[in-house]
This record gives sequence, C-alpha cells and structure tokens, in this order.
Amino acid sequence: MEKKLLQDQLRRPLRDLRISVTDRCNFRCSYCMPAEIFGPDFPFLPKDQLLSFEEITRLVDIFSGAFGIKKIRITGGEPLMRKDLPALIEKIFQIDGINDIAMTTNGVLLSKYAGQLKQAGLQRVSVSLDSLNDDLFAKINGRGVKVDAVLKGIDAAAKAGLKIKINMVVQKGVNEHEVVPMAQFFKDEGHILRFIEFMDVGNTNKWNMEKVYSRREILEDISHVLPFEQISSNYSGEVAARFRYLGADSEFGIISSVTEAFCSTCNRARLSAEGKLYTCLFSGDGHDLRTPLRANKSNDELAQIVTGIWENRHDRYSEMRDKNPERNVSRKKVEMSHIGG
Ligand code: SAM
Ligand code: SF4
Ligand code: SF4
Repeated sequence: MEKKLLQDQLRRPLRDLRISVTDRCNFRCSYCMPAEIFGPDFPFLPKDQLLSFEEITRLVDIFSGAFGIKKIRITGGEPLMRKDLPALIEKIFQIDGINDIAMTTNGVLLSKYAGQLKQAGLQRVSVSLDSLNDDLFAKINGRGVKVDAVLKGIDAAAKAGLKIKINMVVQKGVNEHEVVPMAQFFKDEGHILRFIEFMDVGNTNKWNMEKVYSRREILEDISHVLPFEQISSNYSGEVAARFRYLGADSEFGIISSVTEAFCSTCNRARLSAEGKLYTCLFSGDGHDLRTPLRANKSNDELAQIVTGIWENRHDRYSEMRDKNPERNVSRKKVEMSHIGG
C-alpha cells in the first residue's frame, strides 16, 4: 500500500494512534468515572461490540501501511482489564512499521502482567498515580486501593525493563498539596513525573475552572523546593512541556491542556473499544469504523474512510474553550474512559 501523509484542515499531520481496548475499569476515579454514575447497572459495552484483536490489528496495519503511523498507545478504561492483552501487543508488535508501543494504566495489574507485556513487545508504560497518601489516594480512585499496589506495579514494570513515566492529575482542593511530595519521590526514584491539568472531558466529572490547578501554580510550588529549568521538547507535537531539575539528570513534565492549549500541534487519533475514531478528546461522537470493518470493506476502502475523516478535521476544542465556556463545557462530549486520554 502506498503511504499517504495526511493533513487536516489546520495542516496537522496524523502521527499517533491511541487505542482503547475496554471501557471498563477496576477504579472509579472521581474525575473520570465517578462511582455514582458508573455504578453496578452502568451499561458497559458487551463483548460483541468490542473490536476483536484481529480487527484492531487490521486497523493498525492500515494506519501503518497507508499513513506511516509508527507509534501506538494502548489505553482504556483500564487496558489490563481486557483479557489476554499481551496477545494483542504481540500481534501489533509484528506489524511492519510499528516501532513504538506504549500503554497507559493505573498500574495495579502490572505486578501480574509486566513481564508478559515486555516480552510481547511493549516498550513503555505511563502509570497514573495522583497521591502518595493512602487515604487520599483510596478516596480519589473510588475503590479504596492503596498506594503500595501501584508502587508494586511500577517496580514490576521497571524490573521487566519497561520505560516508565508517571501521570498525576492535579485537582485544586483535592491533591495540589501532593505536587511537591510526588515530585521529590519520583525524582529520587528516577521516573519522569508528568502533572496533568484537570480537564473538562466528558460530562460526568463536575469540572469547573476553579478546580484546575494550573501549570503556573504547579511550577511555582516546585520552584520553592526543587529548582529547575525548562528544556526543549523531544519532538514536534509533544504534549508535555519538559523541565530538568538543576544539578540532576532527571526531569518532570506538565501537560497544560487547559491553561496553555496545544491544539495547533495535535496529531493524535483515538480509537474507542467499539471501533469509533475520535479526532479530539472533546468530540461529541466518533466515526464508526466497526461497521465497514465487519462489512468486509477492503484495506484501501478503509484507508479512504480514515483519509476523509482526517482531512475534514478542524478540532481545536481547548483553544476555543474560553470563547464560550458555558456552551463548550456543557455540550455532549465523549467520556474519558471511552477513549483513554
Ligand atoms: N486507566 C488507565 C489510567 O488511569 O492510566 C488508562 C485510561 S485513563 C482515562 C488515561 C489518563 O487520563 C490517566 O492518566 C488519567 O489520570 C487521565 N485522566 C482521566 N480523566 C482526566 C481528566 N478529567 N483530566 C485530566 N486527565 C484525566
Ligand atoms: Fe479508570 Fe483510568 Fe479513569 Fe481512573 S483514570 S477511572 S483508572 S480509566
Ligand atoms: Fe487535540 Fe482536541 Fe486536545 Fe486540542 S482539544 S489538543 S484538538 S485533543
């Protein structure tokens, strides 16, 4: 298949594909899947509506063959809740042109799977952890899980040889006092910590601007204790701004999607577990790829569909958020647990 470099309406290329493999999770983080909404009767996707491993692999093959995608991130829900996940990684790893497979996880199942995942071809994990305080963490994750369960997962990933980053969502009035302890801890551990501003993804997490602890506030807190300097990005389109601690060889990052939006370089597509392609984290709905996949369309026909979707894209939600906050925040948006961040 001849490769085509896609560009959207704002001349942004398609470089990165994120694949959600399940909409289920063993946590109920208040900012993502609040327990009162995602309760025992919540209608999660039934198995026949999930893309099979064969269907996911076929799409990755098309994204790689037709558009030159090299990077894949597996996410969820909690991706390790999907049965036999290492088998999917192994299939993706065998696809020509894919040279970087990463996963975002809450980490508790890493103790069990890290070795198998590494062996299957996974290279990197981003582990989410919002506090080092047991009581606070148990409350945030909504399932009473203690910090140690995640730290054990991180250790298992390190032992297996996976590269590790840590993600911390900072919410004002909830865990902003954990910014400095987390920075100190992961500097000592030698893992890059990335602070993420609390975002208005979906419609269930009761977001408002007052709950956002901004990049500026995070930097100010850290500067009092651990001096740092900003360093340049690793590549164009990197979402985290990078900072290096002075006198050390370690760094941290900030993903400031709310206060300093980066839509102008956004080059990611997101595939939901049921096979819808989303061109923005804040989309109302996705583009159905499962129906044409199951209707036996050829690879060329599927590539044509994706081309049409990307070439029509003009999303820049975060840059527009402030223009009409009422309407932008309240309109229907896909839930984070559906497309995986
Ligand atoms: N369950 C996995 C995990 O937690 O890492 C993967 C899916 S989760 C949706 C992906 C990332 O999105 C996590 O790092 C999580 O903290 C982040 N996230 C979820 N809701 C968010 C929100 N409202 N604002 C900012 N980040 C959020
Ligand atoms: Fe689950 Fe991740 Fe969402 Fe937390 S952030 S509820 S771990 S999907
Ligand atoms: Fe990309 Fe949408 Fe986020 Fe802007 S708001 S950076 S277009 S995902």
